[in-house]
Amino acid sequence: MTNHTLTNSEQLFSASKKYIPGGVNSPVRAFNSVGGTPVFIKRAKGAYLFDENDNSYVDLINSWGPMILGHAHPEVIKAVTEQIQHSFTYGTPTAKELEMAKLICEMVPDLDIVRMVNSGTEACMSAIRLARGYTGKKKIIKFAGCYHGHHDSFLVQAGSGALTLGSPNSPGVPEETASNTLIASYNDLESVRALFDLHDDIACVIIEPVAGNMGCIVPEEGFLSGIKELCHRNGALFVLDEVMTGFRLAPGGAQQLFDIRADIICFGKIIGGGMPVGAFGGKREIFEHLAPLGPVYQAGTLSGNPVAMSAGIATLTILKDNPSIYVDLEETVKTLHKELDTILDEKGIDHTINSIGSMISIFYLEGQVKSFSDAKSTNTKLFSRIFHHGLKSGIYMPPSNYESWFLGQGIGEVEIEKILNTFRTF
Ligand SMILES: *Cc1c(COP(=O)(O)O)cnc(C)c1O
Repeated sequence: MTNHTLTNSEQLFSASKKYIPGGVNSPVRAFNSVGGTPVFIKRAKGAYLFDENDNSYVDLINSWGPMILGHAHPEVIKAVTEQIQHSFTYGTPTAKELEMAKLICEMVPDLDIVRMVNSGTEACMSAIRLARGYTGKKKIIKFAGCYHGHHDSFLVQAGSGALTLGSPNSPGVPEETASNTLIASYNDLESVRALFDLHDDIACVIIEPVAGNMGCIVPEEGFLSGIKELCHRNGALFVLDEVMTGFRLAPGGAQQLFDIRADIICFGKIIGGGMPVGAFGGKREIFEHLAPLGPVYQAGTLSGNPVAMSAGIATLTILKDNPSIYVDLEETVKTLHKELDTILDEKGIDHTINSIGSMISIFYLEGQVKSFSDAKSTNTKLFSRIFHHGLKSGIYMPPSNYESWFLGQGIGEVEIEKILNTFRTF
């Protein structure tokens, strides 16, 4: 075991707290749910992160999804380096945006048309605005435990009232806004049906086709298609949030893997190859309502900028041309799933492992995990101890038990053994 001193991270964190709220630019990075000092990363290559003291870690976060090719992929670096010689953004249309849109529409099944934005949050908030503008209806349905970014309409929890209207789960979100978001339960089609029975002004249902923000939870057979049917019977749109699953579960995302098609699809993460990029796309007929074609407004100064497009095009092209990447990552996850199961069994630790493709998460509890209410009983104290043991052993797991691990290219036998050993020695 290497000596992982955190001195530099501790100094940087306390200095950062003076100038950045909580010392971080996204809350999960602050380690609040696991305790301790966040490790400051200086550089990364392939499957490894290197901290300010040059300690290395097998990266199981991969920037929360985007780095499926591993860090600092030479072809992505080349594409970005070539573009930056010619400036970073023009605020005019470019050929790169056309190339990107064509590539996305080729990879994602039955996708007609796509608009670039700068984050997953923007993609999801624009998708529901378009759904509302298109249908002329006000309410949306989301699922407890699913994350669609930090827009007001999504920071909502199930209300207690008989009307089943959502209530804000963050100060600053108006109750009027939250009351237009209805909360259903993942893998519970009846909960969706009940909301459609109670409300007749539902514009859309938005869902993560595989949940990754309450740990990894896979949809049961018929769940997604059942929602789609309920949507269409009730004049609502079916919106898939593929920010996490897009280009990760398959080159064409969950739509390809589960052979299901949505009306509007949201993308982010992998689509930018590590740059701040999102997108939303879908049926031409629906997108004819979006500005400048139609009245539903949406815009972005840096949307589709050529540097981000270069990283995205390079990343997606590699994924499109090398389907073996998906096969290899899936094999790695299968090995991890099986071996971790055995190790935790031998140690007598209650656990459930969910995995699909290159996503895997361990819940420390008894029984299956099919929804947020199941996931919530995970033993977070135990997770924190395992997490810190991992850091000391050179494994960087996501610092929250409600986040899936995302694997990236470059994880081989050595790294798998390192991960397994971390659990063996716990
Ligand atoms: C990460 C994520 C988002 C938000 O994307 P940002 O780029 O962080 O705004 C939305 N939906 C899902 C499913 C995500 O995983």
